[in-house]
Amino acid sequence: MTEPDRPLPEPITPESRPYWEGLKKHRLMLPNCSRCGPFFYPRLYCPKCHRPASGWVQASGRGRLHSFQIAYQSFSSAFKIKPPYVLAMIELDEGPRLMSNLIGIAADPKAIQCDMPVEIVYEHIVGDVVLPLFKPAPAKRSSRGAKANSKAKPKAKVKTAAGRRR
Ligand SMILES: [Zn+2]
Repeated sequence: MTEPDRPLPEPITPESRPYWEGLKKHRLMLPNCSRCGPFFYPRLYCPKCHRPASGWVQASGRGRLHSFQIAYQSFSSAFKIKPPYVLAMIELDEGPRLMSNLIGIAADPKAIQCDMPVEIVYEHIVGDVVLPLFKPAPAKRSSRGAKANSKAKPKAKVKTAAGRRR
């Protein structure tokens, strides 16, 4: 058995088990609230309205890079991933955000941009433990993609005075 390069989920709690079981089958499962929609991390109650979770939904595995940080040294000896690596806050198309690593791109602030489209990579760490990592994805052009984007919160846009015409 190869030594894992990071701490593994242990123990896997009953409320998070469908999440970890889903990853093994290459499905990103999110707990769902019948009123508010999917949320993350897996827990018994909706973080918005505090109702019990109504079940699980399968996420698309697509999203955007909400924020990132490049680690040039490991903060803990338990993490043996060779730096530099990218810590990434991913905003899924379904809304919830999750912390992950961005892979498949240079750990270079000139190469990485916030809001860049990303997609899931099912990383088999060791044994049957699978973690959701993310890699850059081609920009979406389909109407389905546009629909998903329209659900997202509108981002503040800066308009310059020079752009106005009268
Ligand atoms: Zn709710």
